[in-house]
Amino acid sequence: MAEYEMVIGLEVHCQLATKTKLFCGCATDGFGAVANTRVCPVCTGQPGVLPVLNKRAVELAFQAALALDCKLADVSIFARKNYFYPDLPKAYQISQYEQPFSQHGRLECRLKDGAAKVVRIHRIHLEEDAGKLLHAIGSEELDHSLVDFNRGGTPLIEIVSEPDIRVSDEAYAYLTALREVLIYSGASRCDLEKGEMRCDANISVRLKGAEKFGTRAEIKNLNSFKNVKDALEYEFRRQVEIVESGGKVVQETRLWNAEKMATFSMRSKEEAHDYRYFPDPDLVPLEAKPAWVAALKAGLPELPAARRARLTSEFRLSSYDAEVLTSKKEVADSFLETMKLLAPEDAKALANLMLNTADFSPIDAPRMAELVTLTRRVITVNKAKELYPELRASGKSPKTLVEEKGLAQVSDEGQLREWVKAALAANPQAAADLRGGKERAIGSIVGAVMKLSKGKANPGLVNKLIKEAVNAGA
Ligand code: ADP
Ligand code: MG
Ligand code: ZN
Repeated sequence: MAEYEMVIGLEVHCQLATKTKLFCGCATDGFGAVANTRVCPVCTGQPGVLPVLNKRAVELAFQAALALDCKLADVSIFARKNYFYPDLPKAYQISQYEQPFSQHGRLECRLKDGAAKVVRIHRIHLEEDAGKLLHAIGSEELDHSLVDFNRGGTPLIEIVSEPDIRVSDEAYAYLTALREVLIYSGASRCDLEKGEMRCDANISVRLKGAEKFGTRAEIKNLNSFKNVKDALEYEFRRQVEIVESGGKVVQETRLWNAEKMATFSMRSKEEAHDYRYFPDPDLVPLEAKPAWVAALKAGLPELPAARRARLTSEFRLSSYDAEVLTSKKEVADSFLETMKLLAPEDAKALANLMLNTADFSPIDAPRMAELVTLTRRVITVNKAKELYPELRASGKSPKTLVEEKGLAQVSDEGQLREWVKAALAANPQAAADLRGGKERAIGSIVGAVMKLSKGKANPGLVNKLIKEAVNAGA
């Protein structure tokens, strides 16, 4: 096994974040809705209708390609990919074939050990989704199938990588980085549970150091990044065993079965489709004018890599903190918004609060800034974390909540001095030790003050005031 390596290329489909479908005005919010309630004559392939290209879908597709450093074609062509299947009422899918709108991009992925790996993007093209077949309802198998066309005609981009990936962890890192970039650019929401990001994995094996690629299998039905990793590991072992026992890997499409943790043959090359692609006569070539492309490029928001760099340089965060903060766009957005209201030296406290609060999801910047300000004097960072869920749920201001709950730290020196005096009087042995120069004895006096104050005394001030009191001969 150790003499072999995997060669992997991924084909990823992502749903573009449009309100309507690629060639008609039907809504794209059909996931989970009543079946066939987001349909019209165009997306159900009725005779005599014509597709009209959705401009927003094109904008988002181009922005995704720009964010992935792709070259954009001046002219691209929509093509018909012909095949019959019950989820495809026109019996062809409108896609792009010979002239996709973009090619030759790159994506830098970060591996667990912090190393970077660049995966080249072969091409990105625009296409429409098919409908969805239902073979079961709940756990009950049907003796017939149902079809839901809500998804049919939804705008997708297909992102095809070069075969640059060599281990399953790199595939995972690539998908994670791709998802981040697409979400940041606004092109796709990439909600995996709604099927907004789907991946097919091509994998072959070869002896390490060999130049030629082996014969590949394409694995479908991978609905999570974890499935992709597991399927690649399984498929690697399967192919190496075939090669080691003198056999030949056949080029075929295989399906991943997550319960059985194995891939199964679906169709071989002999049965592979001839899609008879040809340019769609109903759609004119798509022209991208340089000024329009430039405006799209200017409209791209800050991407994850640039943002990570800024968090480490401008706000002095560790690269680990920057990495975790940027992995969710809304968290990074909230960090930057909140920092506008705070001083640069608050960055670390804010990052800590965000990163160490379980299941952190942001509140508005003014309240977030107020909470961080409170941790300077009024409450400890731990208290702030404890308070966070209630703060989010109640919509109250941090100050109000701290007052209502009586959590405020006491920093009033008059009050603190009284507690210190009482603590020294109640612990004569420790007080005497302290006066005699045993500094460790201060711990039990601080403890006594904390008890008297029900944990609210400002510990820094208490320490200072005890020393003052002892030096003054109390
Ligand atoms: P197809 O048109 O049949 O889908 P492509 O040549 O477009 O084939 O390749 C599809 C994907 O398969 C790409 O991501 C590519 O990187 C990958 N790929 C191609 N050849 C190999 C191989 N020998 N081993 C692993 N992956 C491969
Ligand atoms: Mg393919
Ligand atoms: Zn429609």
